[in-house]
Amino acid sequence: MTGPGGPDPDHFEALFHQAPCGYLITDDAGRITAVNETFVRWTGYSRSGLVGSKLQSLMPVGDQILYSTHCIPQLGINGAVSEIAVEIIAADGGRRAALLSASRSPGSGQEPASVRVIIFSAHERRMYERELVSALRAAEEAEARRAQAEKELQHLALHDALTGLPNRAGLKAKLDAVPAGGGLAVLFIDLDHFKAVNDSLGHAAGDDLLVSVANRLRAAVPGTGIVARLSGDEFVVVDSFAGSREATGLAAGLLEILKTPILIEGLEIVTSASIGVAVNGDDDETPEDLVRRADIAMYRAKELGRSRWELHQPAESDYTVDRLRALGELRRGINDGALRVHYQPRIDLHTGRATGVEALVRWQHPTRGLLPPSEFITMAEESGLVRPLGAWVLGETLRQADNWRRESRRGADLDFAVNLSARQLSDPGLVTMVEDALRLRGIDSSHLLLEITETALMADPGGALDSLTALKNLGVGLAVDDFGTGYSSLTYLKKFPIDELKIDRSFINGLGSDSGDSAIVGSCIDLAHAVGIRAVAEGVETSGQVQTLKDMGCDLAQGFHFARPLPAPALKEWLDAHTRDERAGA
Ligand code: C2E
Ligand code: MG
Ligand code: MG
Repeated sequence: MTGPGGPDPDHFEALFHQAPCGYLITDDAGRITAVNETFVRWTGYSRSGLVGSKLQSLMPVGDQILYSTHCIPQLGINGAVSEIAVEIIAADGGRRAALLSASRSPGSGQEPASVRVIIFSAHERRMYERELVSALRAAEEAEARRAQAEKELQHLALHDALTGLPNRAGLKAKLDAVPAGGGLAVLFIDLDHFKAVNDSLGHAAGDDLLVSVANRLRAAVPGTGIVARLSGDEFVVVDSFAGSREATGLAAGLLEILKTPILIEGLEIVTSASIGVAVNGDDDETPEDLVRRADIAMYRAKELGRSRWELHQPAESDYTVDRLRALGELRRGINDGALRVHYQPRIDLHTGRATGVEALVRWQHPTRGLLPPSEFITMAEESGLVRPLGAWVLGETLRQADNWRRESRRGADLDFAVNLSARQLSDPGLVTMVEDALRLRGIDSSHLLLEITETALMADPGGALDSLTALKNLGVGLAVDDFGTGYSSLTYLKKFPIDELKIDRSFINGLGSDSGDSAIVGSCIDLAHAVGIRAVAEGVETSGQVQTLKDMGCDLAQGFHFARPLPAPALKEWLDAHTRDERAGA
């Protein structure tokens, strides 16, 4: 209730008495003139006993001296003292620790000076302190929760969400902590035909399969070992072993464990894996090097028929310091734009016209000059670098195709042949990569021809058939390269959705001079025509060879006789000259 003179004095009265601390009013000498309920209760004296007594008389002698010689003069000079620790002797004789603060109002006219005193019992103070402590503790807990959240985030970054295993980054972090050298072994595990499960049963089933494989691996690998999932269906196990025999023993055990059927959506799925094993032989080899060698061995296990393990020996010729250095250079070369594409024309033998070009990669090496593919393709293939390399060649070729298409009618008619490696063929991302590359440049898929060597086809006919069918569905043309060197049977050839057979250069060489070669070339052409596809001769170097091929009914030819593989501008000039000759001849 607010009266005309300000707040209702009753409120202040109530506040004065109920405050959680002692309130007193004294005169300048410390004589108490008023005291609140709290102080009365706290000390146990009666109000009438307190009023009129000196405040210092409630204190032990030491504090009396402190109050009289320090507080009272301070109040006179500064008007205030704060938080002075004193003791109050209660009615029962017990001492109560207290903190005393006071302020003096000088008074005016009739009004004498007065001192307002606030006394906190140290008990209250402790409560405040306790609150402070609990606030601090809450802050600490919040900090701990934040740290935990950070840890969880880090866990997410380093682990694969599906299986909970460390991912590639997680594996790297773990390997960084492993000392180099000393009996370390890596098992590189790749599931066989995982794509088939995904394609036929759906991704959810594929995920279930991966989770149960992860669980089986985790359960089978000793607690000291690291089990990680690198990507898709690739897993890695790292542990220390007494020797290669122990490591391959684990590989064999894992193969058995993985063979036990897995129940997914009511179906018993039998899976198998190819495992590459690498064991540390010397102290300089880092765990990452080991993973790389195990990867190479895994590919060999695939090539040798899957569902098996292969051991990579440190002394194997494909693993040397030089080789690793070269790999590093090539990786940098791909990233830094050191690759080049040269183009070799393909000539239609019926019309004499250049209908397209084959893209052939080169590497502008920083010290060794322009290197042909024979110097680096095998290495790229074995290390997996051929995927980014191949994607670059395709992208660059289609960029060039787009340029020529804009420049002339002639350019728009050209077909572009690009070589694919075996490793690209088994890459589940291949079809999307090709589709995206075509879309990026707006090139019609019918202008693209992909060449796969006969050897690559035969390495994994089942897998190749899947990939080729998917590519065929995009509308791109397919050619079997280096035909005659891979011992493929006619039955296989008929199964693949191919458009063209490129007869290997070695047979064209002996054309005319070696009757055996002539017979082979002749029957290759007949074979191609029998299954309804084009025959192309590679490595044509003489006009005699051209004539013989024409006589045999060969459809297309390519070789130094017409042109060497040329950089884009030189090829453009060649094409222009070729077109002029054609017109002049016509
Ligand atoms: P290929 O696809 O069979 O290419 C034909 C090879 O024969 C080319 O060698 C070409 O320069 C060479 N050649 C063409 N005409 C003649 C001739 O009249 N006489 C002789 N002696 N040789 C001729 P190059 O460019 O050294 O390529 C070698 C192989 O490297 C290619 O054989 C192909 O398998 C592979 N390759 C080239 N570029 C790529 C690529 O981008 N990716 C992949 N995966 N492989 C590639
Ligand atoms: Mg080729
Ligand atoms: Mg070839």
